[in-house]
Amino acid sequence: MRTYLSVIAFLCFFSAASFAQKKKADLIIHSATIVDVATGKTIPHKIIVINGNKITAVADQQQLGFYTSKKIINAKGKYIMPGLWDMHMHFGGGDTLIEENKNLLPLYVVNGITSIRDCAADLSPAVLQWRKEINEGKLTGPTIFTAGPKLEGFRSIWVGDIEVDNSSQLHKAIDSLQKLKVDFVKITDNTMKPELYLEALTEVRLTGLQITGHIPAALTLTEVSNAGLSAVEHISYLLRAGNKNEKEFADKISAGNMTAKQYNQLLLQQFDTVAAMQVYRHLAKNGTAVVPTLSISFTTAYLDQDTHQFDEQLQYIGKGLRNTYAWRIERAAKDTGEAITYRHQLIERAAGLLPLLLKAGVKIIAGTDAGYLNSFVYPGFALHKELELMVQYGLTNQQALTAAVINGPAFLGKQKLYGSVAPGKMADLLLLNENPLKQISATKTIYTVILKGEVFDRARLDAMLLEIKRKAAAE
Ligand SMILES: [Zn+2]
Repeated sequence: MRTYLSVIAFLCFFSAASFAQKKKADLIIHSATIVDVATGKTIPHKIIVINGNKITAVADQQQLGFYTSKKIINAKGKYIMPGLWDMHMHFGGGDTLIEENKNLLPLYVVNGITSIRDCAADLSPAVLQWRKEINEGKLTGPTIFTAGPKLEGFRSIWVGDIEVDNSSQLHKAIDSLQKLKVDFVKITDNTMKPELYLEALTEVRLTGLQITGHIPAALTLTEVSNAGLSAVEHISYLLRAGNKNEKEFADKISAGNMTAKQYNQLLLQQFDTVAAMQVYRHLAKNGTAVVPTLSISFTTAYLDQDTHQFDEQLQYIGKGLRNTYAWRIERAAKDTGEAITYRHQLIERAAGLLPLLLKAGVKIIAGTDAGYLNSFVYPGFALHKELELMVQYGLTNQQALTAAVINGPAFLGKQKLYGSVAPGKMADLLLLNENPLKQISATKTIYTVILKGEVFDRARLDAMLLEIKRKAAAE
């Protein structure tokens, strides 16, 4: 009897589907298992309907008959998740390297990175142009969010920054950044006066933009968080919170009675977890996030053990960019055994803070620091390593994925368009051969990338890799 009824139900279902007007779609993915990053669960037997650059419907597999499309992907056995975000990278190295930097755009796509946050350097006009062309569909690349030129003090070591020495210059700088329609503001501390730094944080936040950056040693984490710093770039700054006398040391540094290195060494010796947690909870309350950039820290800290000279990924990087890597090798070669041990200790301790930050409720955002100067942190590839490092230092697979696909967009106020496989979201998707909730390295098992509705299957991705390699060799 039960069989008989289910046959009738089956027939009714099919006749309903065939007689009803089928909905046309640009792309249908069926038999998919969705990776719901927010809940950490997989949802099998789904169809995903895409029109233009958006997901317009997500439905049960039985409803496949209600849709029609010239492009259909059978995703049986595949895992579908939102595209990855690298929330800290750089385009840079001077005008002669513009083409080499442009050649990195497809490298991100091939690696499943569908959005990137450019944290400033010396190629802002080119980056702003690429952002526009990508948004208009004229150039293939991840969606770019850029800081434009960053804020610094007078005569900083950086090229291409906007240098400010007083309030009126600061206001002019903020106006010019707004005119460039930057997506956020980056600030660093090379020659930036601490009081002007604090003013910059507050003034930028008043414009509605987020501001992220390095932290002057003369200021405490609490001070910069209270003044409006949206995110701390690089996890090593978070060690300062473990110093019960953070303010006292900050004052010593501003008075010139202590160097930054001495300060860091003290932090390693007297890290106090209770004091740190208090500061981290305060950061969480203020909404100050952390972009750990473990990739760059581990790569440089362990150059004594791995010089990366034979990395397979080097063949995708142009010669000019590869040349910018050399300085770190040269600098590391000069280090004494003591300095090397210190570097290892510093990054191990800093990375070990991740569970404390999570416990305190601080948002962790995935970013690599890939780009020129940042030796052997390979654009695109590095984000997968970043996720693996996050897991190695205490995040669950789900938390690491959250850092890349939920916290990234949310930080830039883009949570409505990104963060899950759901109707109304941007059709930036990865089809993976393996489940990244089970094994974080599964993010590398890319079967297909969907970028704003456009399909890049494995054959197309492999062809792109060959083309990137050819161009890099010719550069
Ligand atoms: Zn950086």
